[in-house]
Amino acid sequence: MMMNKEQEKLPLPLLFRQEANESLLAFCRESARDLPWRRSVTPYRVWISEIMLQQTRAEVVRRYYDRFLAELPTPRALAEASDDRLAKLWEGLGYYRRASLMKRAACVIVEKHGGELPRDYASLRALPGFGDYTAAAVASFAYGLRAAAVDGNLLRVLARLFRVEENVLSSKTAKTLREIAYRMLPDAKDGTSGGERYLYDGYAAAEWNQAMMELGAQICLPNTQPKCEKCPLSAYCIACAEGCAERLPIRESTLKRKEEARTVLRVTDGERYLLHRRAEKGLLAGLFEFPNKEGTLSEDEAKKAVEEMGFSVKSLRALAPARHVFTHLTWHLSGYEVTVPPIDRAALPEDFFAPTKEELYRDYSIPGAFGAYKP
Ligand code: SF4
Repeated sequence: MMMNKEQEKLPLPLLFRQEANESLLAFCRESARDLPWRRSVTPYRVWISEIMLQQTRAEVVRRYYDRFLAELPTPRALAEASDDRLAKLWEGLGYYRRASLMKRAACVIVEKHGGELPRDYASLRALPGFGDYTAAAVASFAYGLRAAAVDGNLLRVLARLFRVEENVLSSKTAKTLREIAYRMLPDAKDGTSGGERYLYDGYAAAEWNQAMMELGAQICLPNTQPKCEKCPLSAYCIACAEGCAERLPIRESTLKRKEEARTVLRVTDGERYLLHRRAEKGLLAGLFEFPNKEGTLSEDEAKKAVEEMGFSVKSLRALAPARHVFTHLTWHLSGYEVTVPPIDRAALPEDFFAPTKEELYRDYSIPGAFGAYKP
């Protein structure tokens, strides 16, 4: 985030800025992980990595990042990628909406910014899918701007450092913590105070952002596991001094997640598998799925559902139940493998497909929600 004049007047908490930041940056230089997106920093590479890293662990992102960039190396390539190819490259990372927003942003970058990510925070923030965090990450890592990139991990660290007893999921508290983070950023002149510089040489805010991210990933861990004895900020941390780090931050979601039962029908003729493309709007928009019905269907109900799709049923066997959690919804899944006579691909209704197993794995992106029912 960037601050306005009023926010600039906020008091700076604790003794940060010099002593604490030096300790923090020294820790980062010693223990920052070697991650592919830190080896060569460009605005596009920073953006792709930051989107992939939302909701997904770095170890998982490692497996996707280089392959994605090799195939879609520029915003223009991303803007021109087919939706199916993009979904296939994203398969396994989950939260597909991130990928479709990335493509929308890439189109804006091509149309309005000549194919390059804009260089100022406000223009970055205006791109589809760019929240405060992503805009600040690109602004600081790629362009050296003074912006604090505060994600859920940083909220946790900050809530502990300053013993914030308010709900960090409320936008008011999160905003206050982002303002505090901004106040903690070193200026270019005191960022490294003459010591050895690290990857983002001369980019004081970038170094600080990365150091805080490393602290959140390696030391100030969630739940009951902060490693305060190894923390470079322990001398400044209120929660550590007062022995309440383990119960912070307070995260009270007002979100009520809906529960829904669904039955997945893995229809096959022994060689091909029936797939359906979901509607272009709503949950998992435009992605492929195994046919499925709301509710927990009995064998007879499952058989009838497949017959209504135009197939006669040869045999049916139950598959193991599964569960999938979306942001607003939990699916409790049951499933059947339903064997039918040879599927005539030419006679399939619109939006239905019947790939072989090999084609399914090679060409079709199946969302994680149906992952348990892949053949
Ligand atoms: S001292 Fe402990 S609680 Fe405080 S920031 Fe460090 S690891 Fe987190």
